[in-house]
Amino acid sequence: MIDSHCHTFYSKHATGTVDELVRASIAAGVTVLTITDHAPFPVDSDNRLLESELEQYFADIDSVRQTYRGQITILRGLELDYMPGTDNFNRELLARYPMDFVIGSIHYVEVPDEPMVKVWELSRLASPAFLDRYFANLEALLDSGLVDAVGHADTLLRGVPEDILIRRFEPLLELLARSGIAFELNASGLRKSSLDSVTGMEVLGLWTYPSRELLGQMIARDVPFTIGSDAHNPRDAGAGIADMLATLRPQGLLQRISYYEQRRRIDVALDTLVSPSNP
Ligand SMILES: [Zn+2]
Ligand SMILES: [Zn+2]
Repeated sequence: MIDSHCHTFYSKHATGTVDELVRASIAAGVTVLTITDHAPFPVDSDNRLLESELEQYFADIDSVRQTYRGQITILRGLELDYMPGTDNFNRELLARYPMDFVIGSIHYVEVPDEPMVKVWELSRLASPAFLDRYFANLEALLDSGLVDAVGHADTLLRGVPEDILIRRFEPLLELLARSGIAFELNASGLRKSSLDSVTGMEVLGLWTYPSRELLGQMIARDVPFTIGSDAHNPRDAGAGIADMLATLRPQGLLQRISYYEQRRRIDVALDTLVSPSNP
């Protein structure tokens, strides 16, 4: 089992040490784990690594790589934030530390005449002004050449109807395919709340993302996929990955999953991956 997206206490709003996360991941059956704490970013310092912690963060990852050698492959990653105007900041950050994998995610969006929108503010996601800026920023991220994969780009499905999201996403499919950037299948969509369109209340237990319809369109364009639990504590190590694959594979769509070593893509055919439907 591959898990290419997870967090430790270094992200501040997540818990568990690197060692605790790795032990829980081994217990959950993960064999290739990329640790991807939130990278330093100018707009926020409470929910991410500080630049002063990066040295220790990577040292911790290198240490568990040695300790658990033979049981699990451990890779060095970061989840980068993206906003227009931050390219140089991000580029300099990435140049300082050799890494295996870089996810680019959009968590914050500046909308004219409004306080900054965070993508977990579900009731604000369906506004056309927000969607305009979100997809403009996503296009700029795909153009930036900074990242290996785009993280949970369809997380907006927590507050946006699927047909609206797909209409917004379709113009970017060509660019996504051409960029070579992978699309992340993020399993946190199986356990996060979403907005009920009738009552406006947040409800649990619905699979919101990844979008299965969008997935089909990306497969048709040969877009590579990464996969991750997005665990924010050791209890969620590997969570949702086997369930997600078990659901997507019988649809005959998904044939391979990729992960990255030293920023180079490695494709794994799904019939060689162990999951409950293929023990
Ligand atoms: Zn994220
Ligand atoms: Zn994350």
